[in-house]
Amino acid sequence: MIEIVFATNNSNKLHEVQALMPKGIKLVSLKDIGCFEDIPETQNTIEGNAIQKANYIKTNYNKDCFADDTGLEVEALNGAPGVYSARYAGPEKKASNNINKLLEALKHHTNRLAQFRTVIALNLGDKTITFEGICKGEIINQKKGSGGFGYDPIFLPDGQAETFAEMSLEIKNTIGHRGRAVAQLIAFFEQQT
Ligand code: IMP
Repeated sequence: MIEIVFATNNSNKLHEVQALMPKGIKLVSLKDIGCFEDIPETQNTIEGNAIQKANYIKTNYNKDCFADDTGLEVEALNGAPGVYSARYAGPEKKASNNINKLLEALKHHTNRLAQFRTVIALNLGDKTITFEGICKGEIINQKKGSGGFGYDPIFLPDGQAETFAEMSLEIKNTIGHRGRAVAQLIAFFEQQT
């Protein structure tokens, strides 16, 4: 059995990903390894932050691990809010404020194209491997739907009639950025076991 730390404080994410892992791999939480401090995320790219988080665990706890980082990249805003998606409207990281700020920034733009991008950084032995998942779509003019989190109510994925906040989690995970990145991570582990 290989034990790997998933560097997240979100226990839902941990359980979801564990359920998809091949049998020989056991995911371990930050709590399980006694990591209760905030892991620094001070890089200015999504991949930089994912690698920084994974390296923090490797350096301080000497464990194989992976970490993810996600951002919403809007074409008309040259990729913003990107790595700053959580705190786009301020350090309180409030989703409704972030959405309002983004809608305001796009008010006069006809190009509404955007994508969510997730990077997973895996530290295994002395190797670092990254996996990327992208979901393309557009930013609509007003919120639709009450599910999901973050920017979900204003993100309409390509080829879909519903925003991320209107669709089931099952569909979101199938077509979504995080699900796609996780699928690649799992495919990698399946090759190893
Ligand atoms: P994290 O790296 O997963 O913590 O994501 C950073 C930020 O990106 C979150 O705080 C959200 O604002 C936004 N975000 C990430 N994933 C999603 C998603 O699936 N839907 C909507 N917003 C998301």
